[in-house]
Amino acid sequence: MSPEHSLPRRRFLRGEFFTSLQSKTVQQQGFQGIRPPWAVDNQQFIEDCTRCGACIQACETRILVKGEGDFPEVHFDRGAGECTFCQRCVTVCPQPIFRPLTEPAWFHRVEVSEACLTKKGIECRSCEDSCEMRAIRFKPTLGQVSQISLNLEDCNGCGACLKSCPTFAIKIIYPDLVEQCKKI
Ligand code: SF4
Ligand code: SF4
Ligand code: SF4
Repeated sequence: MSPEHSLPRRRFLRGEFFTSLQSKTVQQQGFQGIRPPWAVDNQQFIEDCTRCGACIQACETRILVKGEGDFPEVHFDRGAGECTFCQRCVTVCPQPIFRPLTEPAWFHRVEVSEACLTKKGIECRSCEDSCEMRAIRFKPTLGQVSQISLNLEDCNGCGACLKSCPTFAIKIIYPDLVEQCKKI
């Protein structure tokens, strides 16, 4: 049984376990493992993935690793730290566990915590250039350093911004989970 299944659902959704886990991956990505891009839902993925590791070998940026139960997971703190959407993991996989490539690769997005230097009045634009989608911008603010502004509609979840932040202020979020937590 995976750890996420052994946790009471409410507590898992509220993220109470996230802060007790100290690995950098968990700090940046949360407790929930991220499957390769375009993967089907987690339950079907676990049922049909044979754990052959072909996708891990094929990944051009080396962000895929054997995770919990030896199933492939994305770890944005490994390799080049970002997904280029090269689709190698999808095409090499012999199993029918990937959605059409015309669909969004992922549904996670990012958020910026209070650790962001601009929120402490310190000039920093380290993450801006890392975002090819231009989802990260900086707004000139009168009397303050330029403040970071995220447009999540443009974010594709590539993870490139995570490694660019000197204070690890950028983290992965799951908008669906956030919505569910608000209802609990
Ligand atoms: S799309 Fe390419 S870079 Fe992204 S996880 Fe798959 S193999 Fe790696
Ligand atoms: S290539 Fe497919 S079956 Fe093999 S480990 Fe990766 S996702 Fe699972
Ligand atoms: S995850 Fe990728 S697309 Fe989203 S804000 Fe970060 S760099 Fe931009």
